[in-house]
Amino acid sequence: MTFHIITIFPNIFDSYFNESILKRAQKNNLIKIKIYNLRDWTNDKHKTVDDTPYGGGAGMIMKIEPLYKAIKDIKSKIINNKLAKQKNTKIILLSAKGKLWNQKCAQAHIGLDNIILICGRYEGIDERIKKFIDEEVSIGDYVLTGGEIGAMAIIDSISRLLPDVLGNSQSLINESHSTPGVLEYPQYTRPEIFTIDKKSYRAPKVLLLGNHKKIAEWQQKKMKKLK
Ligand code: SAM
Repeated sequence: MTFHIITIFPNIFDSYFNESILKRAQKNNLIKIKIYNLRDWTNDKHKTVDDTPYGGGAGMIMKIEPLYKAIKDIKSKIINNKLAKQKNTKIILLSAKGKLWNQKCAQAHIGLDNIILICGRYEGIDERIKKFIDEEVSIGDYVLTGGEIGAMAIIDSISRLLPDVLGNSQSLINESHSTPGVLEYPQYTRPEIFTIDKKSYRAPKVLLLGNHKKIAEWQQKKMKKLK
């Protein structure tokens, strides 16, 4: 799967995508992440991507033209490079007004070949962008300064579901939200007893005795169901 990110702050992604599981997934060609600077689709000397809002109000709004050109170019590159048929590409706009992203959404996107992610900044994007996207997605009921953290969250949550991305695919079984509304059981590791400020905190005995049937029963009981 190839992720294409449109942003005015391309450097934001450097460290996150160059560490750990996502770094290895790219090295092993399981995913590709392409980052595009929106300013490359401007024509003026100052590479302007924003303007004042019609009707007045605080802040600046991202202009439609550079975004439209960026989407068009990236889509035609996808088709020309035979990276995928257009219908196997989705365009996602990051927005505080969008549909809330969850594990089910991540699962629903694993069959795509390409996802184009548009990161807003300032007070948001000219509303006409909605004519050229497939989905408007929010990562939580709060407002961020930009869509870049949302793009990282979406890429991360989809990538770890793809075959061979995680070192151990068993990790995906029984983890939180793999069944909607169900959370993973509590996990412990050494030491058996953690003592601090004269207080001791024990790992549950049942996990230390090697009785797999009893451990499975305990874990099953401790899985939380969200209402
Ligand atoms: N004025 C906008 C509003 O009230 O909905 C907020 C704009 S926000 C400061 C700038 C950009 O950050 C947005 O265009 C969007 O791309 C991104 N953003 C902010 N909150 C987000 C969220 N909860 N989920 C996804 N993206 C978000």
